[in-house]
Amino acid sequence: MSSQKVAEKPKSKNLIAGATGDWEVIIGMEVHAQVASKSKLFSGASTGFGAEPNSHVSLVDAAMPGMLPVINRECVAQAIRTGLGLKAQVNLKSVFDRKNYFYPDLPQGYQISQYKQPIVGEGEVEIDVDGETLKVGIERLHLEQDAGKSLHDQHPDYSYVDLNRSGVALMEIVSKPDLRSSKQAQAYVTKLRTILRYLGTSDGDMEKGNLRADVNVSVRKPGAKLGTRCEIKNVNSIRFIGQAIEYEARRQIDIIEDGGTIDQETRLFDSAKGETRSMRSKEEAHDYRYFPDPDLLPLEYTQSYVDELKAVLPELPDEKRARFMKSFRLSGYDADVLVAERSSADYFETVAKGRDGKLAANWVINELFGRLNKEGKAIEESPVSAAQLGGIVDLIGSNAISGKIAKDLFEIVWTEGGDPADIVEKRGMKQVTDTGAIEKAVDAIITANPEKVEQAKAKPSMLGWFVGQVMKSTGGKANPAAVNEILKAKLGL
Ligand code: MN
Repeated sequence: MSSQKVAEKPKSKNLIAGATGDWEVIIGMEVHAQVASKSKLFSGASTGFGAEPNSHVSLVDAAMPGMLPVINRECVAQAIRTGLGLKAQVNLKSVFDRKNYFYPDLPQGYQISQYKQPIVGEGEVEIDVDGETLKVGIERLHLEQDAGKSLHDQHPDYSYVDLNRSGVALMEIVSKPDLRSSKQAQAYVTKLRTILRYLGTSDGDMEKGNLRADVNVSVRKPGAKLGTRCEIKNVNSIRFIGQAIEYEARRQIDIIEDGGTIDQETRLFDSAKGETRSMRSKEEAHDYRYFPDPDLLPLEYTQSYVDELKAVLPELPDEKRARFMKSFRLSGYDADVLVAERSSADYFETVAKGRDGKLAANWVINELFGRLNKEGKAIEESPVSAAQLGGIVDLIGSNAISGKIAKDLFEIVWTEGGDPADIVEKRGMKQVTDTGAIEKAVDAIITANPEKVEQAKAKPSMLGWFVGQVMKSTGGKANPAAVNEILKAKLGL
């Protein structure tokens, strides 16, 4: 890395300042998402995670001579659904090719993939970054097999191979080089994962390696022609994607500004050191000697099959967001938070149905999500059901309880369970709207604090103190609006 240079702030937030002026980062992503399917792409072996090594391996996956691959219909349907979810061209005919290379965890000596004729063509994904909406082009989506796994840390003298993953179906989703910052790249992968989860076509679980991103990065002066890119392989978390891009862009800028050139290469991201390192010089497509797999016919189906799948596609995050904003009058921000996971959106919708949407959103986002986060729980594990939270929202909406009491009630339902309306009834938590009772409480506070009453006459902001006292003496149950009004009248404010 070159010596530190003094650089001005960049002229736009999507540019990076260098010693010779601003630079633009160009990013394209190749995301590998494991297809949600019980069995593999070309065999009936299980895709179950965490099994004993080599326990989910058919003769096809082990590449025994003479074994023939048989396409898994469900994996094809999943790829089509994903294509539809990406608003992409679904190709009625696609071809499986052999991508030839040697590696110990690839017993066939080739990966069955799709090259010239992928199952899905161009589409797009919309992302929101810093209040701006950006359309990211999808170049293609193709189906391919995953490889096995080499284990190097089991024994000092040997490496082992686990073929459980061998032959598992992957969708490789290739974006156009439309991304211009690490933040945009992170938003893109996050959004893509949300779409896959809504569709149920991949669980997108990055911790299990079910979603990995290859990140292509190059830099150029704004308006100049594209620079040489480097591909950072298999980045497996959203945070690392951001770090890898930041590091790589700066590395390339420093090299060019020092008079050097970028070698096209494949790099890996070392998450412990936060840096990218060279793995190998980049291979070109012709190095793999792609050719159509003679064991597999071209994959063909009719438009009516695609239409059938389309007809039962679930509502997608963008549509849901728009609907929530319209029918529940939510802000874009609140709607984003709620639709990020399908389960959260469903929960919210149950709470909001027939109620004040904005109030329901506040309770789901602030109280429920806040509490779930604090306890590290997923929404599926929430001790407060959507029906119970709906009950709490009803009690607030009808003025039966104050906002403060509602928080206590939420706490009770969270820890003890039960029907919110019953709890309020049995524990006498109902808001006091009876002005006679409130007046009595106000009088008691005024009588006990003559000097404060004098001060309040000169300083009307003292009213807040009185309100606080009355609320305290009524156990938070007095209707705050009524308390305010009565206090103002009695204090002559
Ligand atoms: Mn691939």
